[in-house]
Amino acid sequence: RKLGVALVGLGGYSAGQLAPALQQTKFCRLAGIVTGTPAKAAKWKQQYSIPDANVYDYKTFDRMIDNPAIDIVYVVLPNAMHAEYVVRAAQAGKHVICEKPLATSAADARRMVAAVQKAGKKFSVGYRLHFEPHNQEMMRLGQREAYGPVRHLAADNGFSLTTPSWRVDRALSGGGPLMDMGIYCVQGCLYTKGQVPVSVTAKFTANPDPKLFKDVEAGLDWQFQFADGATADCRTRYTENMEGRLRIEGPKGWAELTPAFGYGGLAGKTSQNDGRLDLPNINQQAAQMDDFAACILQNKPTRVPGEMGLRDVQLLEAIYRAAETGQKVSTKDVVQLIDRT
Ligand code: NAD
Repeated sequence: RKLGVALVGLGGYSAGQLAPALQQTKFCRLAGIVTGTPAKAAKWKQQYSIPDANVYDYKTFDRMIDNPAIDIVYVVLPNAMHAEYVVRAAQAGKHVICEKPLATSAADARRMVAAVQKAGKKFSVGYRLHFEPHNQEMMRLGQREAYGPVRHLAADNGFSLTTPSWRVDRALSGGGPLMDMGIYCVQGCLYTKGQVPVSVTAKFTANPDPKLFKDVEAGLDWQFQFADGATADCRTRYTENMEGRLRIEGPKGWAELTPAFGYGGLAGKTSQNDGRLDLPNINQQAAQMDDFAACILQNKPTRVPGEMGLRDVQLLEAIYRAAETGQKVSTKDVVQLIDRT
C-alpha cells in the first residue's frame, strides 16, 4: 500500500506543487487534508477524491491519531506555525515532513525534533533540492573536490515582494527574505562545500519600502567563513526578482547553476567537460516525498532530517545576530550535519 499523506495548510505551495506531485508518487499518495476553510475542503475533496473521514480542521487535527489511513503529516503553514503542528502530529503518532524554514527559533526546532523522536517517528524537512539532479551534481562536484578544494562559493536567491502577506509579518514568518529565500543559499553552500561554516559576517541592505518592510528585513548580504579559509558570499532580497544562483570555485575550475533553486528549468555550466552541466529536470517534490516514504517503508534514515532543519535555523539566527551587531559571529556550536554524497 502507498503511505497516506495529509497536507496541513492548503495555500500556494500545497495547491500548486505538493498535491500535483502526490499524483506522481510511487510510495505515497494524497490521503487527507487539514484546512480552516470549508470552501477549500469541499473543493479538494472533490478534486482529489478525499473521503470525509480524512478531512480535518485545526481543532479536529488531533483526531488523526485514530486514522490509520494517514501515515505522514506534511506541515505547509506559515513558518511560525510549524512548531505547534509538528509537535501535535508527532503526538498523534504520525511521521512528519515540515516545510522550510523548520521553525522561527532554534528553541522551537529543538522541541520539534525531540517531540518526533519521543513518538518514535521519522521527521524530515521539505528540502526538495537534495533530490534534484543539478543540485546533486553540484554536491558531488563540491564534496569530491572536482576542481580541488572549494575555496569560494556564491549564492543568491530572492524575489520582489510587493503585497503584504504573512511573509512580511514577523510574528508569522520569523523574518524576511533570509527565512524564506536565503535559506536556499545557506543549504546550497553547506551541501556543496560539505562542511558547516565556523563563522559569519552579515549586513542588512537598504530598505526602499519601510511601510511594506516595517517588520522584517528587505534584504541581507552575508559571508560564511569555513575552517579551511574558504568563504561563501550570499545575498537574499524581497526587493529584486533574482534568478537564483549557486556557484563553487576551486583552484582547477568552477561550476554554477542559474537558476539553481526553482521548481524546474534548472541549468548549469562548468569550466570542465565542454562547459555543460545538462541534467534532467524532474518533479522535485515527488522525488522528495517518495524518498521519505521509502525511508519509512525500509526503515532507513532520511538525508534531510529534522536535525538538519535545526542546523539551518541555528545558522539563520547567527546571520541575523551578525547583521544586528556588525560583529563576526561564531557558528561552531551549530549541529554538525552534512548530506554526504
Ligand atoms: P501561502 O500563504 O500560500 O499558504 C499558507 C496557508 O496557511 C494558507 O492556506 C493559509 O490559509 C494557511 N494559514 C493557516 N493559518 C494561517 C494564518 N494564521 N495566517 C496565514 N495563513 C494561515 O504560503 P505557502 O507559499 O504555501 O508557504 C507555506 C509554507 O511552505 C512556508 O513555510 C513556506 O516557507 C513553505 N514553502 C516552501 C516551498 C519549497 O519550495 N519548499 C515553496 C513555497 C513555500
